[in-house]
Amino acid sequence: MKGLILLDIKTIKMQDKNLKEGKTSTIIPAAITTKGEINKTRTNGVNEKEFEILHKYVKKIIKQIGKEILQGKIELKPYNYKGTTPCKYCKYHSICGFNTKNNTNKYQYIENLQKDDIIKKME
Ligand code: SF4
Repeated sequence: MKGLILLDIKTIKMQDKNLKEGKTSTIIPAAITTKGEINKTRTNGVNEKEFEILHKYVKKIIKQIGKEILQGKIELKPYNYKGTTPCKYCKYHSICGFNTKNNTNKYQYIENLQKDDIIKKME
């Protein structure tokens, strides 16, 4: 499964109680070695410091979005990551009318960055 998890064996075992030594979880992005340690090559995780940076950043962005919504700022600016956009699956397209042929409708392109670079940018 995609996503991030805290690089902490207790947390990993609590998130997937059925995860056995030497196996990769089917429900979280983590794996455990046969010795019962985190398999870092098969785990997509962040350490506590990185988790704190992510937590603070997400909190800040949520506050910012909340303020903008209250100010009536609701831009049509869906993400575009390597050509994938949410519009393809969105039920509201007929209502929002997003169309790149309209010069004011533009995607928010997401850079293809590595996890460490993303954490640095957030910091
Ligand atoms: S179709 Fe419209 S509402 Fe849906 S994701 Fe795209 S821009 Fe947003």
